[in-house]
Amino acid sequence: MNLSDSIGTLKGIGAKKLESFQKLNINTIEDLIKYIPRKYEDRRNFTPICNLYPGENFFINGELIKITGYRGRGRKSPVILKIRHDSGIIDVVYFNSIYLRNAFQVGQKYAFYGRVTENSGRLQMVQPEYTKLEDASLGILPVYPLTKGISQKDMRKSQKTAQEVTSQFKEWLPEEIVKQNKLRDLPFSYTNIHFPLDESSYKQSKYRLVFDELFTFQIGLSLLKKYSIEKQGGIPLTPDDCEENFINSLGFQLTSGQNHVWQDIKVDLQSDMAMNRLVQGDVGSGKTAIAEIAMFKTVQNGYQAVMMAPTEILAKQHYEDLKSDFEPFGIKVGLLCSSMKQSEKKMVLQGLVEGSIQVLVGTHALIEDTVEFKNLGLVITDEQHRFGVRQRSLLGKKGQGVNTMVMTATPIPRTLAVILYGDMDISFIDTMPEGRLPIITQGYKTSQRRKVYSKVEEELAKGHQCYVVAPLIEESETLEADSVEEIYNNLVKVFPKRRVAFLHGAMKQEEKDAIMNDFAQGNIDILVSTVVIEVGINVPNATVMVIENCERFGLAQLHQLRGRVGRGKDQSYCYLLTKNESEISKERVKVMESTTNGMKISEEDLKLRGPGDFFGTKQHGLPELQYANLLDHIALLNTIKPQVEKIIKEDPTLKEDKYSGIKEKLKQLFVAKYYFNVL
Ligand code: ADP
Ligand code: MG
Repeated sequence: MNLSDSIGTLKGIGAKKLESFQKLNINTIEDLIKYIPRKYEDRRNFTPICNLYPGENFFINGELIKITGYRGRGRKSPVILKIRHDSGIIDVVYFNSIYLRNAFQVGQKYAFYGRVTENSGRLQMVQPEYTKLEDASLGILPVYPLTKGISQKDMRKSQKTAQEVTSQFKEWLPEEIVKQNKLRDLPFSYTNIHFPLDESSYKQSKYRLVFDELFTFQIGLSLLKKYSIEKQGGIPLTPDDCEENFINSLGFQLTSGQNHVWQDIKVDLQSDMAMNRLVQGDVGSGKTAIAEIAMFKTVQNGYQAVMMAPTEILAKQHYEDLKSDFEPFGIKVGLLCSSMKQSEKKMVLQGLVEGSIQVLVGTHALIEDTVEFKNLGLVITDEQHRFGVRQRSLLGKKGQGVNTMVMTATPIPRTLAVILYGDMDISFIDTMPEGRLPIITQGYKTSQRRKVYSKVEEELAKGHQCYVVAPLIEESETLEADSVEEIYNNLVKVFPKRRVAFLHGAMKQEEKDAIMNDFAQGNIDILVSTVVIEVGINVPNATVMVIENCERFGLAQLHQLRGRVGRGKDQSYCYLLTKNESEISKERVKVMESTTNGMKISEEDLKLRGPGDFFGTKQHGLPELQYANLLDHIALLNTIKPQVEKIIKEDPTLKEDKYSGIKEKLKQLFVAKYYFNVL
C-alpha cells in the first residue's frame, strides 16, 4: 500500500462507498489519513456501574440477566436489558429497536458505550453501542465527521488499515525547526491523531499538525507580502489642506471617527513611504466619503485614483456618487466593468492612458492587463473581504509606489486583523453619522408573514421603499432564482397597488442594473432580492427590510444585509422571518434585535457557532485551514512568525535544499503558481 493509492484499493470499499468518501474530499490513502477525528471516546477502562452518573457517556460491561420488550399492538415498548456487574446493576434501553431482542442472549457478557440518564430516580443507559465483551477493544476511540453512506465503523476500520503506511510520511521541515519546536515526527503524529495512546501523545500529534499548517500559512503570507506589496518609496503628496474645499462640499460634517481616520490617511499620503492601510468601519459609518477625500487629494496632486468594488451593482453606484461629487471640481470619473461593450471599454482605457480620466471605478475587470494608467497614485479596494489578497496586490502593481487603501465592514478583532493583514496599518471609524436612528429589528415566525407585510405597508404608505431578501440557497443559483420569483409572485398579490420587482444572481447584468437603478430612483416600492444586495448598496429612502428564512444566514451577513436600511434620517425596520424554532435560531434573532454594533454581532456569532469560517480565512482570499484555528492559535502563530521571518531573510526564494519540502507544502496550501511565481 502507498500513500498515493486510491482508497478504492482498501478492502471493503466498493464503488458506492468510494463515492461517499469522495464527498468528504478523500480520494487517496493520504487524504484518508489526513482526515482527522472530530473528537474521541475514552474507552480505555470500564467504569464500575456504581460510579455512573447521569449526563455523560460511559463504557461499561456486565452479564445480561434479563431482557424485556415486546411488539405490542400499535405501541412499541422499548427493549430493556438488565445488566449485572460486580459493581452493580443497570438497565440498558433501546427505543424503536424491537429487532434487537434477538441480538442478545441472556447469560452472555456484553460491553456498552453510551449516555447515562436518570429516569424516575434510577440510572439507565440509553441507546448505547454494544459488542460482546470478548470483542470489545479498549482504547481511545476516534469519532469522525461522516457523510451519508459511511458509518463510524467503516471509517474507523479504513483508518486502522491505512495506519500501515503512516511511516511513509517524510519530514518536510528543516531539522532545526523540528528541534527548536520539539515537534514529534509525522509517522508518530499521524498514528496518534487517530489512535492516541494517551492524552499527551494526542496533544503532541495535534500540535504537530497545527504547527505544520500554521507554519505553511505564515510563510505563505509573509512571501505574499514580500512580493506583492513593495514597501519602497511612495509618492509624497503636497502637505497642504487642498481637500478642505471638497470636504466642505459634502453636505455633512465628518464624524469624529471619520476625521481621525482621514488624519491617519493624510499623514500616509504626504509621507514618502507608500501608504498601505486597512480602514475598518461598521456598515453605514461613511467609508465612501473617506475614500473620496483621499482620491480628491491624489487627483489634486496630478495623479490618478482607482476604486475597486466586488459587484457591478456596487461599482455603478459608486460611479454615480463619485461623478456627482467630483464633477463640480472638474474631475473626470470613469467606469469599467466586464459587462460593458467593447467600444465603451476602449474609450475608458484610452482615457486612462492619456490621463483624461482621473478617477476610475470598477469591478475586478480593473485587474486585467489591458488596464493601464498614465500615473496611478492611489488604489482603493471597497469591501475588501470579498476579494483575494492577490487581486488587491495586482491592482497596486499598475503604478510605481502607489498608495493602497482597503476598506471593510467585516469587523474582526484587532489581533487577528494584524495577522491577516500583516504589515498593513489599520484605522477604525468608530462613530456613526449623527441623527441615525438605530434600526428596529424584530423576529417573526413565517406564519406571521401577513402581520409583517402590514408593517411594510405602513412604511410604503409614507413613500418609503422595502427590500425583501430571499433565503440563501448556496447549492444552486436556479433554486435561488425560483425562490425569489415565488416570493415575488406572492407579493404582487398581497400588494396589488405597489410596484414590485425582483433581482437575482442568474439575471443578465443589464437587467440587474436597470432594476437597481429604478429602485434607487424610487420607481420600485418593493425589491425582492438575493444577497446580491448585501454589500454596499445605498438607497436611503429604503426603510424596511424583510429577511426570509433568516436562520440560513450568518449573523455577520444579516448585519450586512440589514445595513441596507437605516441609511437616511428616517426610522428603519428590519423583520427577520424564521421557520425554525430551535434555541440557536431564537438566540440569533435575539442578538440581532438587541444590537446594531457590528463588532458585538461578530463576537456573538463566534460564541454561537464557534470560530468556523466566519473568522476563517476563506473570505480573506487565503487558504482554508483544516486543523488550526486562527483564534485559538494566535499564540502559536506568534512563535512561528519570527522563525519564518528568519528563513525568508536568509533565503528569500527558498532555494536551499532543506526548504524544498516547504515549497511543496506552499504549493498545496496556496495553489502556488497562482501566488508565487518567484519560487
Ligand atoms: P459604508 O461605510 O457602509 O460604506 P457609506 O459610505 O455608504 O457607508 O455611507 C452611508 C451613508 O452615510 C451615505 O448616504 C453617506 O452619504 C452618509 N454619510 C457619510 N458620512 C456622513 C456624515 N459624516 N454625516 C452624515 N451622513 C454621512
Ligand atoms: Mg460602503
